[in-house]
Amino acid sequence: MRSEFIEALYKCLERPASRSEALLLAEASGGEVQALLAAALMVKSSSTGKLVTYSRKVFTPLTRLCRNACAYCGFRLRAEKPFMDIQEALSIVKAGERLKAKEVLVSTGEKPEEVYEEAKRFLKSMGYESTVEYVRDFEERILEETEVMMPHTNIGVLSKDEMAQLRDLNASMGLMLESVSERLMERGMPHEKSPSKKPSVRLKMIREAGELKIPFTTGILVGIGETWEERVDSLLAIRRLHEEHGHIQEVIVQNFMPELGTPMEHWRPPSLTVMLKTIALARLILPRDVAVQAPPNLNLKLYFTYLTAGINDWGGISPLTPDFVNEAYPWPKISDVKRLTELMGFELRERLPIYPKYVKYGWMPEPLKCRVERLVDELGLVRRGEDAY
Ligand code: SF4
Repeated sequence: MRSEFIEALYKCLERPASRSEALLLAEASGGEVQALLAAALMVKSSSTGKLVTYSRKVFTPLTRLCRNACAYCGFRLRAEKPFMDIQEALSIVKAGERLKAKEVLVSTGEKPEEVYEEAKRFLKSMGYESTVEYVRDFEERILEETEVMMPHTNIGVLSKDEMAQLRDLNASMGLMLESVSERLMERGMPHEKSPSKKPSVRLKMIREAGELKIPFTTGILVGIGETWEERVDSLLAIRRLHEEHGHIQEVIVQNFMPELGTPMEHWRPPSLTVMLKTIALARLILPRDVAVQAPPNLNLKLYFTYLTAGINDWGGISPLTPDFVNEAYPWPKISDVKRLTELMGFELRERLPIYPKYVKYGWMPEPLKCRVERLVDELGLVRRGEDAY
C-alpha cells in the first residue's frame, strides 16, 4: 500500500479531504479500497454513530414531459398525458398519509411548456401560466387537505424567484448536480440535448437555494461517462456551496442504471466497487454535517454493502408508489431495509424531509412549523409511535 495513500487517509479522519488527497484516494485498488471504506466508516461513526435514517414518502410525478432529453432518462419516455390531474395526485398523497408517510416528493420533467405545445395548452386551459404555478397550487392543497404531509419539490432548474414562490410550502427542495463535467454536454454525450444540465446553471440554482435558506438535497450521478477526477470535483463543488450557505442537508450518490428504450439502454451500470469507492470518497470529502445517501432500489441485492462505505441515509422510500424515475427498479420493503440495517450493526430511524439540524435552526417555513414540531422528538427525528418501518 502506498505510504502517501495511508498518510492522506489519516488526514481525512481529522478534516474533510483536500482535492489532492481525494484524487489520491480515488486511485485506490486492492487492499487500499478496504482501507478507504474503513476510514469513511470511521468518519460516519464519529458524526452520526450507529444512526441511519430514511424518509417515508410518496412520489407524485405531476408531468413526465421535459424540455431536456438526457440520454439515460426513461422517465420522459413514459408520458401518457401532459399532466397528472391535481385531484388524482392528492388521492395518492392521502393514501400515503394513511400508510404513515410524511414526505411528498413532488417531481416533474423540467418546464415542459417551453417545448411542448400540449403542455402549454393544458396549463392554460386550467388557468396556469407555468408548471411552477401548477406545482404551487398542488402543494397548497396538500397543506390544506392533509394533517402531516410535507412537500419536497424537485422539478428541475428553477430561478431564485420561482424557488421563493415555493419556499413557504416545502420542507426542503432538491436538484441533482449530477456532475460538474462540461464534457458530458458534448456531442454524443449524455447531456448533449439537455441545456439545463450545464454545470454552471445547476450550481447557480443550488447557490441561490442557499441564499434563500432552503434546506437542500443534491447529489451526483455515477457511471454516465464521468472520470474519477470529475466525481471528486463535483463533490468538492457541493462542499464549497455548503461552506458558503450551510444549506446542503444530504448528498445522494446515485448509480446510473440502464432504462429500456433510451439511447443508453445497453450501457453497463457502475460496478459495486466503483459505487463503494464513490460513497467513501463522498463521506471523506463532504463536511461531516452533510448526510451521504445512496438509493437501495438501484442495487436491490447488495444495497446493504453501502453501509460499509459510510452512508447514513437511505433517502425517501415509499410504501405505496414506485420510484417513477427508475421504474424498472422497485423499492425494497422498508421492513427489509430495517432488518438488514440492523444486521449490519446500525439503527434505522425515520426522519422528515427536513433534516434535524434545520428544525433546530428554525429553517422550516411557517405553514409547516406546527406539523414538524408535532412529529419530531428531541433529536429532530420522527418520534416513536409516529414512525413506521
Ligand atoms: S433526467 Fe430529468 S432533466 Fe433529464 S430528460 Fe429526464 S426528466 Fe428531463
